[in-house]
Amino acid sequence: MLRFYILDTGYLKTDKNNVVANSTIATRSNPDVKHTFYNLPVMCILIQHDNGWILYDTGSNMNAMKGHWAPDIADAYDLHQTIEQNLEVQLALVGLRPSDIDTVVLSHMHFDHTGNVHLFKHADIYAPKADFEYAQTMVRVTNDYTQWVGYCKNDLDVVVDHYRLVEDDFELVPGVEVVNLPGHTPGLLGLIIHLEKEGTFVFPMDAVYTMEIYGPPGKASGLLGQRPEYFKSIERVRYLTNKYHATMIPAHDWDLFQTLKKAPLYYE
Ligand SMILES: [Zn+2]
Repeated sequence: MLRFYILDTGYLKTDKNNVVANSTIATRSNPDVKHTFYNLPVMCILIQHDNGWILYDTGSNMNAMKGHWAPDIADAYDLHQTIEQNLEVQLALVGLRPSDIDTVVLSHMHFDHTGNVHLFKHADIYAPKADFEYAQTMVRVTNDYTQWVGYCKNDLDVVVDHYRLVEDDFELVPGVEVVNLPGHTPGLLGLIIHLEKEGTFVFPMDAVYTMEIYGPPGKASGLLGQRPEYFKSIERVRYLTNKYHATMIPAHDWDLFQTLKKAPLYYE
């Protein structure tokens, strides 16, 4: 048995240039370009398999705007999250508590993906090794939070029983593959889920923010760590999606997110 649920943990309102790089800057040929905002939905994927539950990403902390996030992040990414969109309430839609989750996969260590890691100290937490090490370094070498490049020190301070740091692709459980898609950050873990009825789904998380980013051709996002690897990873997502005739679900596409089934509905 394999199924997954989409958990809705609210959205971030941010300048469009943070999503698609330089998408609304004035140029000589287009001097009157309008500044716009974009709403980035933030989702977690809950997977049920024969022997338990896996949670892919942990969303935004409910105290994000009350000091949990560094002030510059809270200012640039305005979190809209209702009580119903708290991760614990979302898990409850499926009848679960955090203690029921035995495995967590963090796509990467950015603030809107690690927000509830404190609820899963008991779990095996997989994270991309290169990004974990980079994030831990960045929040410790300086107290100047403007230098933390999208990492949340409060989340990185959480001590868990077991981080499993990932460098290679591997099969997590039958039908669920972890694939490395670095570039947005030094390491980033995507997920491929092969369902019996509804086929294969590719979740690249922030390797592909939106369908506009995906192209083709792929476009640069606002936050972008390593440019060559970033574009290579977009093309790897395209290759994998074609190979499996899969449905690709980008991390933060507002229009596409509206069309998804949300928990307690599921894909199987
Ligand atoms: Zn990110």
